[in-house]
Amino acid sequence: MYRLLNVNGRAALERDGHWHDLAMVSGEESLADPMVAVGRSGELHALSERCSPSTAGGLVAEAVLGAPVPEPRQVFGIGLNYRDHAGESGMELPPAPLTFTKFPSCIVGPTATVPLSGGAVDWEAEIVVAIGAKCSSVAPSDVWGVVAGLMLGQDISDREVQLTGTPPQFCLGKSFPCFGPTGPALVSVDAFDDPNDIGLWCDVNGERMQESRSRHLIFPIPALIGYLTSICSLYPGDLIFTGTPSGVGMARGRFLAPGEVIVTGAEVIGELNNPCTTGKGALAL
Ligand code: ZN
Repeated sequence: MYRLLNVNGRAALERDGHWHDLAMVSGEESLADPMVAVGRSGELHALSERCSPSTAGGLVAEAVLGAPVPEPRQVFGIGLNYRDHAGESGMELPPAPLTFTKFPSCIVGPTATVPLSGGAVDWEAEIVVAIGAKCSSVAPSDVWGVVAGLMLGQDISDREVQLTGTPPQFCLGKSFPCFGPTGPALVSVDAFDDPNDIGLWCDVNGERMQESRSRHLIFPIPALIGYLTSICSLYPGDLIFTGTPSGVGMARGRFLAPGEVIVTGAEVIGELNNPCTTGKGALAL
């Protein structure tokens, strides 16, 4: 197994609580680029074995981590992919994955501060898939072979912008700066007992808001990748936000406020810790 990190903009592997600069471990400077590293994820198992006390750069707990995949070419989001969340949203279950884009400019790391674009900004804890190889028309049985790893994501959503007009503006409402915290590590699929059954949760200011398991996904990861690649090619580093369980603010009549902290967690993967601050809204037309 491996855990791929971004430490000071450079790819690193986590081992025994320490980070190990990937270029140093491999002897190849090009592997310092996190986007190169994710595209060569097939080599990371062996490189992780090469980490030793002599390659350790510091404690992961003391490092400032960036997004493990900082510049994805495509970022897919899947809406209404947990039955209980579709129910709380008052929406019909979609007959196929309800797909939108989070524009890549919103992707940030696990401890980024999130500027709130208004009074209706919401949290959505999600398992995020990172693709490791260019692929199209992937058979569901072959899907895990094109996955570089899994991590956590927050699909932060400005409900006012998202729900402006009919049809709604999913892509823009979910793409303000820093609306895509990800990390803390990109974790290899073999690190999970079952990559289709990962516990995840979200706390806002210490209050548990969301808690579920990814086995409740209506369209699980193999179905999502099979469906998306039947239409689009996917590229190394592409991300898929797989959907959020119930417990979002919109259903509670309560949104994020400046000064609040969002803690998002998942088994094996770890936690995101994102404070909120006052931001700038969309241009009033
Ligand atoms: Zn979402």
